[in-house]
Amino acid sequence: MRILHVASEVAPYSKTGGLADVLGALPKALAALGHDVTVVTPRYRSVDPERFGLARRLRGLAAPLGGDTVAVGVYEGQAASTPKVRVYLVDHKPSFDRDGIYGDANGDYADNARRFALLGSAALALAAEFGAWPDVVHGHDWQAGPAILFARRRWGGLPPPKTVFTIHNLAFQGLFPESVIDPLGLPREYYNPEGYEFYGQASYLKAGLTVADRLTTVSPRYAREIQTPEQGFGMDGVLRARAKVLTGILNGCDYDVWNPERDVQLPATYSAESLAGKRVCKAALQRELNLPVRADVPLCGSISRLTDQKGFDLILGALPTLLERDLQYVILGSGAPELESALSELAARHPRKLSVRIGYDEALAHRIEAGCDLYVMPSRFEPCGLNQMYSLRYGTPPIVRATGGLDDTIVDFDARSRSGTGFKFESYDVPSLTESWRRALVAYGNPDDFSALVKRCMAQDFSWTRSAEAYSRLYSQI
Ligand code: ADP
Repeated sequence: MRILHVASEVAPYSKTGGLADVLGALPKALAALGHDVTVVTPRYRSVDPERFGLARRLRGLAAPLGGDTVAVGVYEGQAASTPKVRVYLVDHKPSFDRDGIYGDANGDYADNARRFALLGSAALALAAEFGAWPDVVHGHDWQAGPAILFARRRWGGLPPPKTVFTIHNLAFQGLFPESVIDPLGLPREYYNPEGYEFYGQASYLKAGLTVADRLTTVSPRYAREIQTPEQGFGMDGVLRARAKVLTGILNGCDYDVWNPERDVQLPATYSAESLAGKRVCKAALQRELNLPVRADVPLCGSISRLTDQKGFDLILGALPTLLERDLQYVILGSGAPELESALSELAARHPRKLSVRIGYDEALAHRIEAGCDLYVMPSRFEPCGLNQMYSLRYGTPPIVRATGGLDDTIVDFDARSRSGTGFKFESYDVPSLTESWRRALVAYGNPDDFSALVKRCMAQDFSWTRSAEAYSRLYSQI
């Protein structure tokens, strides 16, 4: 089948989170199953055509928007290893040639409704232009809502494609005033409470949720959670009404990129059979982050957007007690200024135990996964979560809250039966996190238990093939 993915982030070109990793990997896995896959995404300022080896394919492609058309350029990414995946980057300087992806220090860009409507329109226009009209348009998160709507409109004599919409995070909804609808040519016939109207505003997310033929989200447990008022972000009723077409398909882990046996970003590689390289990584990480270089101390790590979602209020609550113990903890992240400063201040008070790096650093993220003994991810909610899966492969057992994809991917450790792959807690509070962190430290203190645990973690297989097969079945159904 011919599948057209529309997304606002695609690794390695642009990334703020897991969405990009999924779009970097799922298309390859679908192509390996024999599908013909096109991915369309914006060319932001950070995507330098030379550095990424982009080829210019088109200038002046006419993307319809409202009664008008907008002329956009099209670059093609190099995907030599996967000839059946084409990545097209939509070039429209006034819309995408900016420092941020979604906004800047002043908040979201005021014209985001227009920017992502243009992405959707350009995606379909270029598929028509290139004779690559899709059987299925697969949109990801609110930024692809307009693509789902525009797929319903008539494109010459081309047959309307089927549509799939994937929720990577329900918290982001793309809510805009009703006045954007006509200038962007969004279909009025779907602007009602059963469609993409959300209390008098246009919701791009709700466009995807109500108009697409099939809905998916990125883990089975999250698919259930978002149908409840607690986790539904106001969309739980809509999702319950569409429960029959909603499924949870777990994300995979791209083992071409996240594999300690071949990871070029590490000072030493390693495998489950030979863990000497992991010890080298640990010492190098301690040195890099100015922590005492000690093999015996448990080194914990987190890599994250610093937001309320990721459980940093719990971490900040638990750390004063935990830092009394003999442990080290490294955090790499950026986001909410108040979390950045609270974590940095705590690190300044405990320089031999806590190291906080504010920023976004892909290579350091790999070194943390490899160098740490334990990974900490106590999310309030987690649609799927990727870092816990990376941690498994890097032999770094995760401490997680039992929510969404974290619950679906991690089995709680049990010393007696020598089973489990991490340390889970249910209730979102500081004592529960502290207790599971304490259990992890006890396990670390027992080398036999811990090395068996590390081996079990590394043997887990969350490769994309299984997920791609599930998407493939879904495409066949429609
Ligand atoms: P989310 O998409 O909610 O942010 P995921 O766990 O699904 O969470 O994906 C996060 C991805 O972003 C991972 O690949 C993680 O390594 C990466 N990441 C997050 N913050 C940083 C950072 N500060 N530096 C490097 N990589 C980061």
